[in-house]
Amino acid sequence: MKISVLTMFPELFPDFLREPVIARARGLGKAEISIVDIKAFAGGSFRRIDDDTYGGGAGMVMRALPILRALESVKEMGANCHTIYLTPSGVPYTQKKARELSSLPGLVLLCGHYEGIDARVLSHVDEEISIGDYVLTGGELPAKVVLDSVIRLLPGVLREESTREESFENGLLEYPQYTKPADLNGDRIPEVLLSGDHEKIRLWRLRASLKLTLRHRPDLLENRVFTEEERKLLREIQEEMPGGD
Ligand code: SAM
Repeated sequence: MKISVLTMFPELFPDFLREPVIARARGLGKAEISIVDIKAFAGGSFRRIDDDTYGGGAGMVMRALPILRALESVKEMGANCHTIYLTPSGVPYTQKKARELSSLPGLVLLCGHYEGIDARVLSHVDEEISIGDYVLTGGELPAKVVLDSVIRLLPGVLREESTREESFENGLLEYPQYTKPADLNGDRIPEVLLSGDHEKIRLWRLRASLKLTLRHRPDLLENRVFTEEERKLLREIQEEMPGGD
């Protein structure tokens, strides 16, 4: 996958590009990432990238022309460029979206700053994505979130099983995991995990997933289609809960 990140702060990326999974994906040729400095497209001796907001108000806005020139330059490089603007007013980002993006041949991630970008750029982007209901200073952290979540899903980067059994993949949060020692100063792991009985372990994990999802993210269960087995486990869990019948 060819990925371009358009940013005013390219110096925020080299460390990120050296992180193990990202470096592995690049080394294997699965992800080719270029960091494009929008300032290089500003023109003029001051390379001015921001200006006042029409209509008045505090804060500056990133000018459209440098961004459009930078977008044009990455498109000229030929990649099939699905362009995303990272913005708090975008559609909330999900694991489902990460999977969808991981199947594309190319991505362009546009990072804003100040009060954001001139809104006329939006007709040149394919999607606006928010990584959560809070406001960050710039789009670089959101771009790294999208990059990390997409790149780890590219075939051959991680083991297929390790990404298939994670939170959100089947609409549930992942069950708790344990490692050695089995007895931590008297705090023992659930005995079933030592039983070697795969069916019992599967059932314990499914139950634990359902219980955790019900406790932390009941919204995930609202539109989920349950199997008969899941429905039965969920009934048992609800009966055990304080106030349950
Ligand atoms: N004035 C904007 C608003 O109220 O929606 C906030 C601008 S923010 C200070 C500057 C830049 O950070 C945005 O243009 C965007 O690229 C990025 N950003 C901040 N929070 C974000 C979030 N939750 N998701 C995605 N991008 C975000």
